[in-house]
Amino acid sequence: MKSYKLLTPGPLTTTDTVKQEMLFDHCTWDDDYKQITQEIRRGLLKLAHVSPEEYTVVLMQGSGTFGVESVLTSVIGTGDELLICANGAYGERMADIAEHAGIKHHVYNEHYNKVPNAQKIGEMLDADPAITHVSMVHSETTSGILNDIEAVGKVVKEKGRVFIVDAMSSFGGVDIPVKDWGIDFIISSANKCIQGVPGFSFIIARKDLLEASRGKARSLSLDLYDQWKTMEKDGKWRFTSPTHVVLAFAQAMKELEEEGGIEARNRRYTENNRLLIEKMGEMGIRPYIDSAHQGPIITTFFYPEECHFTFTQMYNYIKDRGYAIYPGKVTEAETFRIGNIGEIYPEDIEKVCSLMREFLEKYNHEEKGGAQA
Ligand SMILES: *Cc1c(COP(=O)(O)O)cnc(C)c1O
Repeated sequence: MKSYKLLTPGPLTTTDTVKQEMLFDHCTWDDDYKQITQEIRRGLLKLAHVSPEEYTVVLMQGSGTFGVESVLTSVIGTGDELLICANGAYGERMADIAEHAGIKHHVYNEHYNKVPNAQKIGEMLDADPAITHVSMVHSETTSGILNDIEAVGKVVKEKGRVFIVDAMSSFGGVDIPVKDWGIDFIISSANKCIQGVPGFSFIIARKDLLEASRGKARSLSLDLYDQWKTMEKDGKWRFTSPTHVVLAFAQAMKELEEEGGIEARNRRYTENNRLLIEKMGEMGIRPYIDSAHQGPIITTFFYPEECHFTFTQMYNYIKDRGYAIYPGKVTEAETFRIGNIGEIYPEDIEKVCSLMREFLEKYNHEEKGGAQA
């Protein structure tokens, strides 16, 4: 099988040592396994800079969306109202979830290349006292923009509301002091910046609010409170857990620590990202998000001017030579995306940029040759 590295923001390229953990078929009910779950939960609390007295961690089967859906449908009661701040597809997905579950909600749509404005959110909360919860995405993977959850969290707390953050593609790669930033529920998943494989999401939650959500869930399998109560007893998951994924994740957590924690990982990602934008710029390929708001996870690029190739042609050329890139997702422009998280280093960025240069030169050459013939 011909392999390639993933320059997609999850699933991403993992280490061999993480993958090797999945060769063992672990029993789910024995103490060793339950201890692994508990260690993961303790480790995640540390990464979030919160105490076990105030916060807890719930692991939830399924991809990241299951985690977001679990929180929104379990903690927002029938008398509550949610304000969703959206500047990309993942913010819009929260509205979709709310729609499906019949959660009363309002959407503050911001343009894809702009961050939601904390002051505006404050004004919306003042104007509508019925709003009880505010949700938003941290790293909007749609564009690569990094939203200012610190500023928004401050406002949401000042106004006495509950703050829910989808930090799917940032947690573990960007340091987030969860309590200091006024976050009550934060969601991420196994296959993003912790660098595990896909199979579960995790929620770091304020204990008192979780306790207060008892009986509110609209779904059985996504009932966050119930999942927590079962897991809290001794680390046993409610329903079958993705054992191989859990073992791989425990190893990925160790490797994050060995790398030097979130700070070191953030440095590597930031350097990957800086180098990527610099090298692409040398070829006349510009990012969609301005540098003040560009996050260190994934970058959306405009196609170079006067280009006539398709994404598939570019994708196949690069994939055949060892890297998988990502199509664009913003609506108003022709773009493509390159992620730089996972087991990816500056030499990979150099390599993919030189492949891109080769592709552009080859393509232009063929175009000219074709025109002459
Ligand atoms: C990856 C991601 C999700 C979850 O997507 P799944 O396909 O369900 O894993 C949610 N929000 C953001 C910002 C993401 O990057």
